[in-house]
Amino acid sequence: MKYLDEFRDPAIAKQILAEIKKTVTKPWVIMEVCGGQTHSIIKNGIDQILPKEIELVHGPGCPVCVTPLEIIDKALAIASLPNVIFTSFGDMLRVPGSNKDLFQVKSEGGDVRIVYSPLESLKIARNNPDKEVVFFAVGFETTAPGNAMAIHQAQREGITNFSELVSHVLVPPAMTTLLSSPKNRVQAYLAAGHVCAIMGWREYEPIAKKYKVPIVPTGFEPIDVLEGILLAVQLLEEGCYEVTNQYLRAVQRDGNRPAQDLVNKVYEVGNRKWRGIGEIPQSGLMIRNEYSNYDAEKKFNVGNIITQESDKCIAGIILQGLKKPHECPAFGKECTPMNPLGATMVSSEGACAAYYKYQRIKND
Ligand code: SF4
Repeated sequence: MKYLDEFRDPAIAKQILAEIKKTVTKPWVIMEVCGGQTHSIIKNGIDQILPKEIELVHGPGCPVCVTPLEIIDKALAIASLPNVIFTSFGDMLRVPGSNKDLFQVKSEGGDVRIVYSPLESLKIARNNPDKEVVFFAVGFETTAPGNAMAIHQAQREGITNFSELVSHVLVPPAMTTLLSSPKNRVQAYLAAGHVCAIMGWREYEPIAKKYKVPIVPTGFEPIDVLEGILLAVQLLEEGCYEVTNQYLRAVQRDGNRPAQDLVNKVYEVGNRKWRGIGEIPQSGLMIRNEYSNYDAEKKFNVGNIITQESDKCIAGIILQGLKKPHECPAFGKECTPMNPLGATMVSSEGACAAYYKYQRIKND
Protein backbone atom coordinates (compact mmCIF):
# COMPACT_ATOMS: atom_id res chain seq x y z
CA MET A 1 0.00 0.00 0.00
CA LYS A 2 1.49 3.32 -1.06
CA TYR A 3 2.67 5.56 1.80
CA LEU A 4 2.50 2.61 4.18
CA ASP A 5 4.46 -0.44 3.00
CA GLU A 6 7.54 1.57 2.07
CA PHE A 7 7.56 3.02 5.60
CA ARG A 8 7.55 -0.48 7.12
CA ASP A 9 10.21 -2.05 4.92
CA PRO A 10 12.72 -4.09 7.02
CA ALA A 11 15.51 -3.63 4.43
CA ILE A 12 15.20 0.17 4.61
CA ALA A 13 15.04 -0.06 8.42
CA LYS A 14 18.34 -1.99 8.46
CA GLN A 15 20.03 0.65 6.27
CA ILE A 16 18.90 3.51 8.54
CA LEU A 17 19.91 1.58 11.64
CA ALA A 18 23.38 1.01 10.18
CA GLU A 19 23.63 4.74 9.50
CA ILE A 20 22.61 5.55 13.09
CA LYS A 21 25.26 3.13 14.43
CA LYS A 22 27.89 4.74 12.19
CA THR A 23 26.94 8.26 13.33
CA VAL A 24 26.57 7.95 17.10
CA THR A 25 29.69 8.45 19.24
CA LYS A 26 28.28 9.33 22.68
CA PRO A 27 25.15 8.91 24.81
CA TRP A 28 22.05 10.89 23.85
CA VAL A 29 18.55 11.10 25.32
CA ILE A 30 15.87 11.70 22.70
CA MET A 31 12.22 12.26 23.56
CA GLU A 32 9.45 11.33 21.15
CA VAL A 33 6.77 13.87 21.98
CA CYS A 34 3.73 12.01 20.74
CA GLY A 35 2.09 8.92 22.21
CA GLY A 36 1.43 7.65 18.68
CA GLN A 37 5.19 7.59 18.14
CA THR A 38 5.66 5.84 21.51
CA HIS A 39 3.30 3.07 20.40
CA SER A 40 5.14 2.71 17.09
CA ILE A 41 8.49 2.49 18.92
CA ILE A 42 7.33 -0.11 21.44
CA LYS A 43 5.28 -2.14 18.95
CA ASN A 44 8.19 -2.39 16.51
CA GLY A 45 10.88 -2.78 19.17
CA ILE A 46 12.76 0.25 17.82
CA ASP A 47 14.18 1.16 21.23
CA GLN A 48 15.59 -2.38 21.54
CA ILE A 49 17.53 -2.35 18.26
CA LEU A 50 19.14 1.07 18.68
CA PRO A 51 22.77 1.37 19.77
CA LYS A 52 23.06 1.47 23.58
CA GLU A 53 24.18 5.11 23.45
CA ILE A 54 20.67 6.22 22.43
CA GLU A 55 17.92 6.30 25.02
CA LEU A 56 14.37 7.08 23.97
CA VAL A 57 12.10 8.64 26.60
CA HIS A 58 8.39 9.09 26.20
CA GLY A 59 6.82 12.53 26.12
CA PRO A 60 3.58 14.17 27.18
CA GLY A 61 1.98 14.03 23.72
CA CYS A 62 -1.04 11.98 24.68
CA PRO A 63 -3.96 14.39 25.04
CA VAL A 64 -6.16 11.88 26.83
CA CYS A 65 -3.38 11.27 29.39
CA VAL A 66 -2.86 14.95 30.23
CA THR A 67 -6.52 15.95 30.45
CA PRO A 68 -6.87 17.16 34.05
CA LEU A 69 -8.92 15.12 36.48
CA GLU A 70 -11.19 18.13 37.11
CA ILE A 71 -12.25 18.10 33.44
CA ILE A 72 -12.85 14.33 33.51
CA ASP A 73 -15.00 14.78 36.61
CA LYS A 74 -16.87 17.64 34.92
CA ALA A 75 -17.48 15.36 31.92
CA LEU A 76 -18.87 12.69 34.26
CA ALA A 77 -21.14 15.25 35.96
CA ILE A 78 -22.47 16.65 32.66
CA ALA A 79 -22.92 13.18 31.13
CA SER A 80 -25.01 12.17 34.17
CA LEU A 81 -27.55 14.98 33.63
CA PRO A 82 -30.94 13.73 32.42
CA ASN A 83 -31.40 15.87 29.31
CA VAL A 84 -27.85 15.50 27.97
CA ILE A 85 -26.40 13.39 25.16
CA PHE A 86 -22.68 13.28 25.91
CA THR A 87 -20.47 12.48 22.90
CA SER A 88 -16.79 11.63 22.84
CA PHE A 89 -14.06 9.78 21.00
CA GLY A 90 -13.91 6.21 22.29
CA ASP A 91 -10.69 6.34 24.30
CA MET A 92 -12.06 8.91 26.77
CA LEU A 93 -14.72 6.47 27.99
CA ARG A 94 -12.37 4.34 30.08
CA VAL A 95 -10.32 7.22 31.50
CA PRO A 96 -10.76 7.11 35.27
CA GLY A 97 -12.19 10.16 37.02
CA SER A 98 -12.13 10.50 40.80
CA ASN A 99 -14.81 7.84 41.30
CA LYS A 100 -15.90 6.39 37.96
CA ASP A 101 -15.52 6.61 34.19
CA LEU A 102 -17.88 7.47 31.32
CA PHE A 103 -18.63 3.78 30.72
CA GLN A 104 -19.99 3.58 34.25
CA VAL A 105 -22.12 6.69 33.68
CA LYS A 106 -23.48 4.97 30.58
CA SER A 107 -24.22 1.78 32.51
CA GLU A 108 -26.09 3.87 35.08
CA GLY A 109 -28.39 5.22 32.35
CA GLY A 110 -26.47 8.26 31.06
CA ASP A 111 -26.75 8.85 27.31
CA VAL A 112 -23.04 8.60 26.44
CA ARG A 113 -22.22 8.00 22.78
CA ILE A 114 -18.96 7.36 20.91
CA VAL A 115 -18.53 9.53 17.82
CA TYR A 116 -15.77 9.62 15.22
CA SER A 117 -15.81 13.37 14.59
CA PRO A 118 -17.18 16.52 16.24
CA LEU A 119 -19.37 17.06 13.17
CA GLU A 120 -21.07 13.74 13.94
CA SER A 121 -21.85 15.18 17.36
CA LEU A 122 -23.28 18.29 15.70
CA LYS A 123 -25.48 16.06 13.56
CA ILE A 124 -26.83 14.40 16.72
CA ALA A 125 -27.65 17.90 18.04
CA ARG A 126 -29.45 18.73 14.78
CA ASN A 127 -31.52 15.53 15.06
CA ASN A 128 -32.32 15.94 18.77
CA PRO A 129 -33.41 19.55 19.26
CA ASP A 130 -35.05 18.76 22.62
CA LYS A 131 -31.71 17.50 24.09
CA GLU A 132 -28.44 19.22 24.98
CA VAL A 133 -25.61 17.59 23.03
CA VAL A 134 -22.09 17.98 24.41
CA PHE A 135 -18.87 17.00 22.63
CA PHE A 136 -15.77 16.25 24.71
CA ALA A 137 -13.20 18.28 22.77
CA VAL A 138 -9.88 16.84 23.94
CA GLY A 139 -6.69 17.04 21.96
CA PHE A 140 -3.61 18.84 20.73
CA GLU A 141 -3.35 21.22 17.78
CA THR A 142 -4.14 18.27 15.48
CA THR A 143 -7.81 17.96 16.41
CA ALA A 144 -8.43 21.65 17.17
CA PRO A 145 -9.46 22.61 13.59
CA GLY A 146 -12.20 19.96 13.47
CA ASN A 147 -13.47 20.95 16.90
CA ALA A 148 -13.39 24.63 15.96
CA MET A 149 -15.28 23.81 12.77
CA ALA A 150 -18.11 22.15 14.75
CA ILE A 151 -18.66 25.32 16.84
CA HIS A 152 -18.32 27.58 13.81
CA GLN A 153 -20.85 25.49 11.89
CA ALA A 154 -23.26 25.32 14.86
CA GLN A 155 -23.26 29.11 15.03
CA ARG A 156 -23.77 29.47 11.28
CA GLU A 157 -26.78 27.15 11.41
CA GLY A 158 -28.19 28.73 14.59
CA ILE A 159 -27.95 25.43 16.48
CA THR A 160 -28.21 26.25 20.19
CA ASN A 161 -28.33 22.80 21.79
CA PHE A 162 -24.67 21.96 20.99
CA SER A 163 -21.65 22.72 23.15
CA GLU A 164 -18.10 21.50 23.75
CA LEU A 165 -16.33 20.60 26.96
CA VAL A 166 -12.88 21.74 25.91
CA SER A 167 -9.53 20.46 27.09
CA HIS A 168 -7.21 21.46 24.28
CA VAL A 169 -3.48 21.66 24.92
CA LEU A 170 -0.57 23.03 22.93
CA VAL A 171 2.69 21.16 22.43
CA PRO A 172 5.43 23.87 22.37
CA PRO A 173 4.74 25.23 25.91
CA ALA A 174 4.97 21.68 27.28
CA MET A 175 8.25 21.11 25.46
CA THR A 176 9.75 24.30 26.93
CA THR A 177 8.45 23.43 30.41
CA LEU A 178 10.29 20.10 30.29
CA LEU A 179 13.46 21.74 28.99
CA SER A 180 13.33 24.41 31.73
CA SER A 181 13.09 21.83 34.51
CA PRO A 182 16.27 21.21 36.55
CA LYS A 183 15.51 17.49 36.18
CA ASN A 184 15.39 17.64 32.40
CA ARG A 185 17.13 14.79 30.55
CA VAL A 186 15.93 15.57 27.02
CA GLN A 187 18.65 16.48 24.50
CA ALA A 188 16.60 16.26 21.30
CA TYR A 189 12.92 16.03 20.38
CA LEU A 190 11.07 14.05 17.77
CA ALA A 191 8.15 16.48 17.36
CA ALA A 192 4.67 15.17 16.64
CA GLY A 193 4.23 15.00 12.86
CA HIS A 194 0.45 15.47 12.84
CA VAL A 195 0.65 18.53 15.12
CA CYS A 196 3.24 20.02 12.75
CA ALA A 197 1.01 19.22 9.75
CA ILE A 198 -1.40 21.80 11.20
CA MET A 199 1.01 24.24 12.88
CA GLY A 200 4.19 23.89 10.81
CA TRP A 201 7.49 24.19 12.66
CA ARG A 202 8.25 27.93 12.84
CA GLU A 203 7.36 28.01 16.56
CA TYR A 204 9.93 25.26 17.27
CA GLU A 205 12.86 27.21 15.80
CA PRO A 206 13.36 29.58 18.78
CA ILE A 207 12.99 26.62 21.19
CA ALA A 208 15.73 24.66 19.40
CA LYS A 209 18.01 27.68 19.47
CA LYS A 210 17.33 28.82 23.06
CA TYR A 211 17.62 25.38 24.70
CA LYS A 212 20.24 23.96 22.29
CA VAL A 213 18.00 21.05 21.40
CA PRO A 214 17.55 19.74 17.86
CA ILE A 215 13.88 19.20 16.96
CA VAL A 216 12.78 16.83 14.21
CA PRO A 217 9.08 16.77 13.17
CA THR A 218 8.61 13.03 12.65
CA GLY A 219 5.91 10.69 11.35
CA PHE A 220 4.56 7.53 12.92
CA GLU A 221 5.58 4.54 10.81
CA PRO A 222 8.74 2.64 11.87
CA ILE A 223 10.82 4.07 9.02
CA ASP A 224 9.64 7.58 9.91
CA VAL A 225 10.71 7.11 13.52
CA LEU A 226 14.09 5.58 12.63
CA GLU A 227 14.76 8.37 10.13
CA GLY A 228 13.73 10.96 12.77
CA ILE A 229 16.20 9.40 15.22
CA LEU A 230 18.96 9.41 12.58
CA LEU A 231 18.37 13.12 11.84
CA ALA A 232 18.31 13.93 15.57
CA VAL A 233 21.56 12.02 16.18
CA GLN A 234 23.26 13.71 13.21
CA LEU A 235 22.24 17.15 14.54
CA LEU A 236 23.33 16.26 18.09
CA GLU A 237 26.70 14.93 16.97
CA GLU A 238 27.29 18.08 14.86
CA GLY A 239 26.16 20.38 17.72
CA CYS A 240 23.55 21.83 15.39
CA TYR A 241 20.49 23.14 17.23
CA GLU A 242 17.85 23.59 14.59
CA VAL A 243 14.64 22.10 13.24
CA THR A 244 14.93 19.49 10.48
CA ASN A 245 11.77 18.00 9.03
CA GLN A 246 11.56 14.21 8.62
CA TYR A 247 7.83 14.13 7.79
CA LEU A 248 8.20 15.61 4.32
CA ARG A 249 5.02 14.06 2.93
CA ALA A 250 2.78 15.86 5.43
CA VAL A 251 4.54 18.82 7.05
CA GLN A 252 5.51 22.24 5.71
CA ARG A 253 7.22 25.05 7.61
CA ASP A 254 4.07 27.22 7.71
CA GLY A 255 1.65 24.36 8.35
CA ASN A 256 -1.98 24.60 7.32
CA ARG A 257 -2.86 28.31 7.44
CA PRO A 258 -6.67 28.01 6.85
CA ALA A 259 -6.86 25.46 9.68
CA GLN A 260 -4.85 27.77 11.97
CA ASP A 261 -7.15 30.71 11.11
CA LEU A 262 -10.26 28.71 11.98
CA VAL A 263 -8.75 27.62 15.32
CA ASN A 264 -7.82 31.24 16.15
CA LYS A 265 -11.33 32.42 15.26
CA VAL A 266 -13.04 30.08 17.73
CA TYR A 267 -10.43 29.54 20.45
CA GLU A 268 -7.91 31.70 22.28
CA VAL A 269 -4.73 30.72 24.09
CA GLY A 270 -4.81 30.55 27.90
CA ASN A 271 -3.27 28.81 30.88
CA ARG A 272 -4.07 25.10 31.11
CA LYS A 273 -3.48 22.44 33.74
CA TRP A 274 -1.89 19.17 32.54
CA ARG A 275 -2.69 16.00 34.46
CA GLY A 276 0.35 14.90 36.44
CA ILE A 277 2.41 17.92 35.38
CA GLY A 278 0.49 20.95 36.67
CA GLU A 279 -0.44 24.28 35.16
CA ILE A 280 1.58 25.40 32.14
CA PRO A 281 1.15 29.06 31.17
CA GLN A 282 -0.35 29.73 27.74
CA SER A 283 -0.57 26.02 26.97
CA GLY A 284 -4.26 25.57 26.24
CA LEU A 285 -7.05 26.64 23.93
CA MET A 286 -10.25 28.11 25.39
CA ILE A 287 -13.49 29.01 23.63
CA ARG A 288 -13.58 32.73 22.84
CA ASN A 289 -16.26 34.93 24.42
CA GLU A 290 -17.99 35.37 21.06
CA TYR A 291 -18.71 31.63 21.11
CA SER A 292 -19.39 31.26 24.85
CA ASN A 293 -22.89 29.82 24.17
CA TYR A 294 -21.04 26.74 22.95
CA ASP A 295 -18.91 26.39 26.07
CA ALA A 296 -20.24 23.45 28.12
CA GLU A 297 -18.39 24.64 31.25
CA LYS A 298 -20.44 27.87 31.11
CA LYS A 299 -23.68 26.19 30.04
CA PHE A 300 -23.76 23.60 32.83
CA ASN A 301 -23.31 24.31 36.50
CA VAL A 302 -20.53 21.83 37.34
CA GLY A 303 -18.19 24.15 39.22
CA ASN A 304 -17.79 22.63 42.70
CA ILE A 305 -15.85 19.50 41.91
CA ILE A 306 -13.41 18.00 44.40
CA THR A 307 -11.02 15.61 42.68
CA GLN A 308 -9.16 12.66 44.09
CA GLU A 309 -6.11 11.45 42.15
CA SER A 310 -4.68 7.97 42.79
CA ASP A 311 -1.61 8.36 45.02
CA LYS A 312 0.00 5.35 43.28
CA CYS A 313 0.00 6.76 39.74
CA ILE A 314 3.32 8.21 38.57
CA ALA A 315 2.09 9.05 35.05
CA GLY A 316 3.19 12.68 35.41
CA ILE A 317 6.79 11.57 35.97
CA ILE A 318 6.61 9.15 33.03
CA LEU A 319 5.24 11.85 30.72
CA GLN A 320 8.22 14.05 31.58
CA GLY A 321 10.62 11.33 30.47
CA LEU A 322 11.95 10.72 34.00
CA LYS A 323 10.70 7.13 34.39
CA LYS A 324 9.43 4.29 32.21
CA PRO A 325 5.95 2.73 32.72
CA HIS A 326 7.28 -0.61 34.03
CA GLU A 327 9.08 1.31 36.78
CA CYS A 328 5.68 2.23 38.28
CA PRO A 329 5.05 -0.16 41.22
CA ALA A 330 1.38 -0.46 40.21
CA PHE A 331 2.11 -1.36 36.55
CA GLY A 332 0.41 -4.63 35.58
CA LYS A 333 -0.61 -5.24 39.21
CA GLU A 334 -3.17 -2.81 40.66
CA CYS A 335 -3.13 -0.96 37.32
CA THR A 336 -4.20 -2.74 34.13
CA PRO A 337 -6.31 -1.66 31.14
CA MET A 338 -9.33 -3.31 32.80
CA ASN A 339 -8.66 -1.58 36.10
CA PRO A 340 -6.68 1.57 35.30
CA LEU A 341 -5.40 3.93 37.95
CA GLY A 342 -4.31 6.52 35.41
CA ALA A 343 -5.24 7.64 31.92
CA THR A 344 -1.91 6.52 30.43
CA MET A 345 -2.99 2.90 30.94
CA VAL A 346 -6.13 3.24 28.80
CA SER A 347 -5.45 5.85 26.15
CA SER A 348 -4.60 4.43 22.72
CA GLU A 349 -1.60 6.82 22.85
CA GLY A 350 -0.69 6.16 26.49
CA ALA A 351 2.84 4.98 27.28
CA CYS A 352 1.64 2.59 30.03
CA ALA A 353 -0.92 1.11 27.60
CA ALA A 354 1.88 0.52 25.04
CA TYR A 355 4.14 -1.17 27.60
CA TYR A 356 1.26 -3.33 28.82
CA LYS A 357 0.03 -4.28 25.32
CA TYR A 358 3.51 -5.26 24.10
CA GLN A 359 4.53 -6.79 27.43
CA ARG A 360 7.48 -4.55 28.24
CA ILE A 361 7.82 -5.51 31.82
CA LYS A 362 11.51 -4.80 32.32
CA ASN A 363 14.42 -2.93 30.74
CA ASP A 364 15.85 -4.94 27.84
S1 SF4 B 1 1.01 1.98 35.35
FE1 SF4 B 1 -0.97 2.84 35.96
S2 SF4 B 1 -0.61 3.72 37.98
FE2 SF4 B 1 1.40 3.43 37.02
S3 SF4 B 1 1.82 5.35 35.97
FE3 SF4 B 1 0.85 4.04 34.46
S4 SF4 B 1 -1.33 4.60 34.60
FE4 SF4 B 1 -0.35 5.37 36.48
